[in-house]
Amino acid sequence: MLDAVVVGAGFAGLYMLHRLRGLGLSVRVFETGKGVGGTWYWNRYPGARCDVESMDYSYSFSDELQQEWRWTERYSAQPEILKYINHVADRFDLRRDIQFETRVASAVFDEATHRWTIQTDRDDRVSARFCIMATGCLSDAQVPDFEGLATFAGKWYHTGRWPHEGVDFTGRRVAVIGTGSSAIQSIPIIAKQAAHVFVFQRTPNYSMPAQNAPLDPGYEREVKANYAEFRRQARESRVGFVVDRSGDSALAVPPDERRREYEKRWARGGLGFSAAYTDILTSQDANDTAAEFFRAKIRSIVHDPALADRLCPTDYPLGTKRLCVDTGYYATFNRDNVTLADVRKAPIEAITARGVRTREAEYAVDAIVFATGFDAMTGALLNINIRGRAGLTLQDAWAAGPRTYLGIAVAGFPNLFTITGPGSPSVLSNMIVSIEQHVDWIADCLASLRANGHAAIEATAEAQEAWVAHVNEVGHTTLYPRAKSWYMGANIPGKPRIFMPYIGGVGVYREKCDEVAARGYEGFALTA
Ligand SMILES: Cc1cc2nc3c(=O)[nH]c(=O)nc-3n(C[C@H](O)[C@H](O)[C@H](O)COP(=O)(O)OP(=O)(O)OC[C@H]3O[C@@H](n4cnc5c(N)ncnc54)[C@H](O)[C@@H]3O)c2cc1C
Repeated sequence: MLDAVVVGAGFAGLYMLHRLRGLGLSVRVFETGKGVGGTWYWNRYPGARCDVESMDYSYSFSDELQQEWRWTERYSAQPEILKYINHVADRFDLRRDIQFETRVASAVFDEATHRWTIQTDRDDRVSARFCIMATGCLSDAQVPDFEGLATFAGKWYHTGRWPHEGVDFTGRRVAVIGTGSSAIQSIPIIAKQAAHVFVFQRTPNYSMPAQNAPLDPGYEREVKANYAEFRRQARESRVGFVVDRSGDSALAVPPDERRREYEKRWARGGLGFSAAYTDILTSQDANDTAAEFFRAKIRSIVHDPALADRLCPTDYPLGTKRLCVDTGYYATFNRDNVTLADVRKAPIEAITARGVRTREAEYAVDAIVFATGFDAMTGALLNINIRGRAGLTLQDAWAAGPRTYLGIAVAGFPNLFTITGPGSPSVLSNMIVSIEQHVDWIADCLASLRANGHAAIEATAEAQEAWVAHVNEVGHTTLYPRAKSWYMGANIPGKPRIFMPYIGGVGVYREKCDEVAARGYEGFALTA
């Protein structure tokens, strides 16, 4: 008999465990992987690194931790982030409550006792008052259902399930399928090793240079001297880290000035480009100015004009898919051993014993890298057989797309919480800020329930409907829904199209959540 089960031991699950322990609750964490780290445990592909700067992309809950840890680069690579998460697990003695190599298969709510029964693939069966899903927005790796994959004579990999021992591509012909963030990070490195790389692109992406570098010790000192204030500003910001925001419309400034502004941001590198003007994400005309700047950059880097054109995104607004952040991506296409295959023009028809066959050609390769992403935001949750009140399954409740209250709770599923669930800023933000906010809110909620003698909390259907309507309304004031993106579920065949993350901003969202709590958990039904 536990107070809480937490599913997942990434950034979210670890901090949740730490907070619940602090409340004196009994907790068990279940994790499919053999170690902690989540995203950073699984995504070991060459070039994997964060796209939010490390001084921001790190926990803020312990001042000792943030003062003593030293990042070596502006954007740390996966091994360093994984080392950091392992350090956190040791420093706060978290491992003793984590059961690794254990996948939660089902979670069933009992209305008589207000408790969840959680079952795993290793036949554990535990009872817990609260069930907290820290299963990750980008953890359910997707390999497209290509005909013939089983016949492929070479080796294939998914970037999100990369072998721990690494992969040596020396002398091998490699197909990389997909051109999202993982592909953009890995292709330049794979191309340096492999005999030849064939890149299969359906949708070109807008990618910013990272301008990565060793972390400037002066900057580190400055941040550490003011870390509390630095974090406060991040929490109150739109995206969970502070970016230089202009108050102007892109259309209100002369073209020369605008170009200088875009050049400055390009030279600085990283995310934050779309904050150059207030209307880049709300006005197509404003967006076109930024998109055209990007396309000109791509044409200036890629020598072959026809190839450059194929790498230029044209059919969705800049920033409506998370910008990628790269090191040498576009320039890699100037190499003789890199070929771009346009699968929008000639779709992949099958994987054969020899390689990849499109409508136009067969590409013989020794290895295939699927950089095809994840069933985002809902995949990991829907993989678990979750049954709430009256046997309602989450699959049925979400048949027309995910519906939540605040992205934290679901009507019909009392005492269940979803960290960074759909309907919260999650993937539109520095996720560690969003994770810490949810974890703190949930921990405070559990403390309040205990103090007031409540056995259960459940989102009301009315509050949930109002929140879903608000999330959609805010989403549709922007250009985001114009892109066929994984924010919309568009990368998964048959998945309902609904704009999943909350775009109102991290700071605004936090205020709303705090107000809900301050008003005695408004929009929730509490049971004694
Ligand atoms: C390559 C890559 C780079 C990224 N870079 C950034 C970045 O720079 N900035 C940013 O803000 N975000 C980034 N993200 C998003 C990233 O996912 C989050 O920042 C963060 O790591 C999520 O932590 P989490 O604990 O919520 O989820 P995860 O790290 O995904 O952890 C979830 C864990 O739950 C486990 N799990 C799932 N289902 C079950 C089950 N049924 N039973 C048991 N265990 C289960 C999984 O195995 C996984 O370990 C990136 C994502 C990827 C894939």
